Amino acid sequence: MEKIDIKSMEYKELEEFILSVGEKKFRAKQIYEWIHVKLIDDFDKMTNISAGFRELLKEKCELVVHTPVSILTSEIDGTQKYLFELSDGNVIESVLMKYHHGNSVCISTQVGCRMGCRFCASTLDGLERNLRPSEMLEEIYRIQSITGERISNIVLMGSGEPMDNFDNIVRFLKLISDENGLHISQRNITISTCGIVDKMKQLADMNVQVTLALSLHASDDATRKLLMPVANKYSIEEILNACDYYFEKTGRRVSYEYSLVAGVNDTPEEAEKLSRLLKGKNCHVNLIPVNPIKERDYRQSDLTAIRKFKNCLEQNRINATIRREMGRDIQGACGQLRKSYVDNNSKEKEVIS
Ligand code: SAH
Repeated sequence: MEKIDIKSMEYKELEEFILSVGEKKFRAKQIYEWIHVKLIDDFDKMTNISAGFRELLKEKCELVVHTPVSILTSEIDGTQKYLFELSDGNVIESVLMKYHHGNSVCISTQVGCRMGCRFCASTLDGLERNLRPSEMLEEIYRIQSITGERISNIVLMGSGEPMDNFDNIVRFLKLISDENGLHISQRNITISTCGIVDKMKQLADMNVQVTLALSLHASDDATRKLLMPVANKYSIEEILNACDYYFEKTGRRVSYEYSLVAGVNDTPEEAEKLSRLLKGKNCHVNLIPVNPIKERDYRQSDLTAIRKFKNCLEQNRINATIRREMGRDIQGACGQLRKSYVDNNSKEKEVIS
């Protein structure tokens, strides 16, 4: 019999489960607190729960706990990259970034990704599987437990496409912002998407307060198609309409991500075109110098081109920042660390067999 994923259960569901096994309702509050506030990694640490009931929980439920296989710390800015092993042997990466305004964790939402963006390391081997709500929560819970430092901000910008794992993301959002749990405000959570239009609208209709970040990376469909296969499915016009809809429904200002690739999308003409697209919108543009991966020959734009690009946007009254590269010395780009770990381990396997 498959075990119940107790960490993915909402408070009400946990209460129902506790009642169904003949225990008192108030036990749900205690157990929820052990899992989602005290962040325990073993049922036996629930010291106010009887040994007998703990045995029953172990028999019926699975407690998802990630094992760190490596933790790299940047000597430049203290950013930490965590490589976690999941119960099925897959590995994922999560990043802890320390800012003046608090600690932020960038989580993966899938093992691998099927979106195929040309510059991204996470998608090179395709999608392995979706992450469950508990597995996404655990990325944050384990980092907070290991460091002993409170996490106040979360970005869904690691490996994977959040909108391609929609139901689990929605449940994750409810659990992480639940007042009985870590209670992280949705306003401190950002979801980044390559632009799956119907899901963006669905999220807008759900009365959420999270920030939407849209990976635009180009100002015309032809250039976008060179970089992102998903552009064959949705046009920039459809995507921007969905972003406007999100803003109307939630009142949250949308962020546009734009990774600058030398000679592809970083010219002054491109900056003008982008300005025309976004002019008058209440938005923010995040310029990201592309992080080259060894499997592709995309190059980073030079600093002068990046500054010119930013100036052009600002002259058009569009808010723009150049993203500070965090953890440059520890394989910063999304999915690079996991990829090199998986590749090295499979090489070892080939040698052994
Ligand atoms: N799938 C989601 C979230 C994951 S990627 C999305 O597409 O938004 C988070 C951001 O990093 C996206 O804007 C993505 O396009 C960008 N990105 C991925 N690899 C990169 C690289 N090597 N250099 C610069 N930006 C990259």
